[in-house]
Amino acid sequence: MPEAPEMQVVAEFLNSNLPGKTVLDAAVLKPSVVRSLSGSLDEDMTGRTFESVRRRGKFLLLGLSGERHVVINPKLTGGLQHCPSKTRVQKRTCVRMKLEGGVDLRYTDDRQMGQFYYVGSGQVEDVPGLAEQGPDVLDVFSFEEFTERLKGFHGEIKGVLTRGRVISGIGNAYADEILFDAMVYPFKRRKALSEDELRRIYRSSRLVIEDSARQVRERMDERIDHKIRDFLRVHNRGGEPCPRCGGKITELRANQRITSYCRRCQPGMLLKN
Ligand SMILES: [Zn+2]
Repeated sequence: MPEAPEMQVVAEFLNSNLPGKTVLDAAVLKPSVVRSLSGSLDEDMTGRTFESVRRRGKFLLLGLSGERHVVINPKLTGGLQHCPSKTRVQKRTCVRMKLEGGVDLRYTDDRQMGQFYYVGSGQVEDVPGLAEQGPDVLDVFSFEEFTERLKGFHGEIKGVLTRGRVISGIGNAYADEILFDAMVYPFKRRKALSEDELRRIYRSSRLVIEDSARQVRERMDERIDHKIRDFLRVHNRGGEPCPRCGGKITELRANQRITSYCRRCQPGMLLKN
């Protein structure tokens, strides 16, 4: 699942490559991922020019001339590809946009779980899930705002962080990384967290995402469809030594999601809270 670090670097790349480029031809190859509130995307998008690129949490917003917007919610398996138009179209390609200069922007999605919205200006906030997003993890917001937003949630902290309503842009992998950095047990209930633990989570959220975005930025280049995750410290590293204490990293699978953490650095198994 792309999360804030990858989405941030993709947005930066598109920001330097997309604005000013006109769509010569647009084609929907897998209609199930497209939600168009502006008539037929194929016809309507052709001839429009990209004007802006923004990211909000895990959503990507592309502005086109004539008050049209593409809003992408990649969910688990969606992504973008920016390549020469002559590049073979992969089976997972859902939307293909041929641009000036012999390049394509393609939305790909292995399992077609993500969503590609094509909407008018007044409809952006109607895109499901977008308006409810909390401040982006790389935005500046205070600890007080963070704890205030947390108040409505009572579940386990990892689940709360990944919902995007308290802070947006954090998914399953980076929630593990943040909680490891903060030394907080991922299944601890929000209400049981001490002020000190909350401060650590608040601080680690930004630090981990900033640092990861820097690493992704250095290595992604133009291959915005590449997922670079080999620098993660605990996520998906069950059985490997903990980089902090040397103990074995624990990996649990619940609700089809992996949670990796260190029992020694993030204690909490015996706490019934
Ligand atoms: Zn450890």
